[in-house]
Amino acid sequence: MNYASLDAVFRSEGITQYAAIPFSACRVTLQRLLDREPGFVPRTVLLYLVPYYAGPTENLSLYAASRDYHLFFRSFGEKLIGYLQTVFPDGGFRSYGDHSPINETDAAAKAGLGVIGRNGLLIHPVYASLVFIGDLVTDVPPEDFPGCREPVEVAYCENCGGCVRACPTGILSGNGSLCLSAVTQKKGELTPEEKELILSHGSAWGCDLCQVSCPHVKRAIKSGDALTPIDFFKSDRTPRLTYDLVANMPDSDFKSRAYAWRGRKTLLRNLALLEGKDGE
Ligand code: SF4
Ligand code: SF4
Repeated sequence: MNYASLDAVFRSEGITQYAAIPFSACRVTLQRLLDREPGFVPRTVLLYLVPYYAGPTENLSLYAASRDYHLFFRSFGEKLIGYLQTVFPDGGFRSYGDHSPINETDAAAKAGLGVIGRNGLLIHPVYASLVFIGDLVTDVPPEDFPGCREPVEVAYCENCGGCVRACPTGILSGNGSLCLSAVTQKKGELTPEEKELILSHGSAWGCDLCQVSCPHVKRAIKSGDALTPIDFFKSDRTPRLTYDLVANMPDSDFKSRAYAWRGRKTLLRNLALLEGKDGE
């Protein structure tokens, strides 16, 4: 394979950080995804980081202001596979972003793309944790996949404790069981405790507190390093949600957002609570 050409495929989408490691080094967490394809023998994993930060948000997670990142991964995954099939016509390729058979954070750390933070996120030296991790699994053996490297030992952050102190529920220190991000995504009725959590932090969708409190993320934002060069994440952003905006969003627009997967009712419930329309 012409490694420079693979680099060109990544760089054409603004992606500069990628690495391949043997599949055997990865932790399989969703075996059923592999079981669906009994003829496919995974041998190599190509991991890459997709920076998504395009500016601050007001009442939703940073990642959710742009259109749904799954759309980006679907389109880029097809492009990547299209290229690799020209190089390995007999190769099998499976592209993932988010719903992978392997633990992507662990694999990216083993591929040397960053360290693992106490908040559970991958921290890259430039982008910090403001990245999505994509991976492509192939049956092409590691020795035939140029650039494939031996996995490195997983390294961890310096454990400054900033994320633990910033977490509003205590879940990171083992003193709580709720995660605000999960609460905003929960369907159905909220408990009084969950409502209070949303109200006291003003979040309609997600929670970035354990991320933006991290000194690596602060540095990446302040220096400008975190800013994504990728148009998909820079355009068509909604950094603030309102009840009326979401209620009147055309289906085609709503479905192109990462928060759509829990349904419009879930998000409207949170926004009604935040705007004092709860129970109206
Ligand atoms: S997302 Fe928010 S609530 Fe969840 S662990 Fe991080 S800081 Fe805590
Ligand atoms: S805030 Fe500190 S402990 Fe938490 S992930 Fe960042 S460096 Fe690690």
